[in-house]
Amino acid sequence: MDGFDVIVIGGGPAGLMAAIAAQTAGARTLMLEKGHKLGRKLGISGGGRCNVTNAKPLPELMANIPGNARFLYSALTHFSNHDIRTFFESLGIRLKEEDRGRLFPVSDKAATVVNALVDHMLACGVVVWQDTPVKNLIVQNGRMTGARLQDGREALATAVVVATGGASVPQTGSTGDAYPWARDLGHHIVPPYPTEVPLTSDAAFIAEKRLMGLSFDAVSVTLVNSKGKRLTREDGDILFSHFGLTGPAALRVSHYVSTSQLKNPDEPLTALIDFFPDVSAEDIRRQFIRARERDGKRELKTRLADWVPERMAGFLMEQLDLNPHQELAQTSNALLDQLIGWLKRFPLPIAGTLPLAKATVTGGGVSIKDIVPSTMASKHCPGLYFAGEVMDVHAHTGGYNITVAFSTGRLAGESAAAYALSMLPLT
Ligand SMILES: Cc1cc2nc3c(=O)[nH]c(=O)nc-3n(C[C@H](O)[C@H](O)[C@H](O)COP(=O)(O)OP(=O)(O)OC[C@H]3O[C@@H](n4cnc5c(N)ncnc54)[C@H](O)[C@@H]3O)c2cc1C
Repeated sequence: MDGFDVIVIGGGPAGLMAAIAAQTAGARTLMLEKGHKLGRKLGISGGGRCNVTNAKPLPELMANIPGNARFLYSALTHFSNHDIRTFFESLGIRLKEEDRGRLFPVSDKAATVVNALVDHMLACGVVVWQDTPVKNLIVQNGRMTGARLQDGREALATAVVVATGGASVPQTGSTGDAYPWARDLGHHIVPPYPTEVPLTSDAAFIAEKRLMGLSFDAVSVTLVNSKGKRLTREDGDILFSHFGLTGPAALRVSHYVSTSQLKNPDEPLTALIDFFPDVSAEDIRRQFIRARERDGKRELKTRLADWVPERMAGFLMEQLDLNPHQELAQTSNALLDQLIGWLKRFPLPIAGTLPLAKATVTGGGVSIKDIVPSTMASKHCPGLYFAGEVMDVHAHTGGYNITVAFSTGRLAGESAAAYALSMLPLT
């Protein structure tokens, strides 16, 4: 057969790393990218600075991957976050560590990372066809033989790595193209859903924009169902918006909202916000009582505003039907407890999330049950491999998704090369 050893479909972080790995392993490799630019999503990740990976140890990395972390164990140990760092440093890209273990290029520019990957891929000898959308996969005698292009041409190879990404932020090129290809070859597709995405609420005070623009640092958000069962607790910053709640802690909760609603769309969900997760209710109560004893004439609202922004203090007073000028001395213990209840368990009804197109990451995709974790090979079609977000894997933001893309890309590329180089070509 005249063609390549390995074709990689998709020039995101997973595909770029897969192509580099396959070519480095000695396989003649072709990269097919539908867009004009490689690494578009990578280029906007981490606020345009590219959160390349995360420095945390493996158990913590795994804890930040709510979408099928165990399946990823082989890939993450084969090519770890430390290996990713060493890889980039070998390309002359120095990384710096920021809060929560996040690693960024010292340049603070995603383009540094994308250009380094692309330049290295080309220097390795990978052939790249940009502006080349793949229409579907070609299978002959039950094994992978290449890809059919949208313009009708065929690109032939012994092995194919599918790294087409998820279906979120479609303007970057990830439009879920590979789901039907994989389905036609017998892979189950877990329906895609939005994750790492802001939460929506139909509470009247959200629609009325009462809290819009208020941000809170280091809160905890606990998601509960109608029976009060805790679905998750996530810590971090939040921001009230005109549709609901955003910020890192809200994004982390979104996976649990989406998966709960996939199981039971009618289940009412509530986010309970603890504005002071490091201070007990008892401590807050003691401080209010001390203030009441020392400074009884002071207005409750101004004392409350020592704790939360004034707009929030006024809002809480209203929720409890209190006179805005109520003095501390007039505030009973029972009332204090109610108020503290709002500070420690502020209830925000959750309607859902923003749609998949707006999500940072896609949940769902090609089922991991149909993929061999130690090679990323398809269990249904010899010569077919998967890498990155096209699979039913996803992580919290913080460099974890990009780590998953690089680790699975590396493993898939090496495995595809080993397979291709061991096979006699079809005649
Ligand atoms: C705004 C934003 C910020 C983010 N920030 C972070 C962050 O801070 N930390 C983190 O870990 N993750 C972050 N992510 C997520 C991360 O960028 C993705 O998880 C990662 O890019 C997935 O890599 P991938 O290679 O699997 O897919 P993608 O990066 O989506 O690449 C897929 C590629 O396949 C190509 N393709 C698709 N279909 C075809 C076809 N038919 N033919 C040929 N080519 C095709 C696409 O054009 C695209 O180039 C962010 C995402 C967004 C949108």
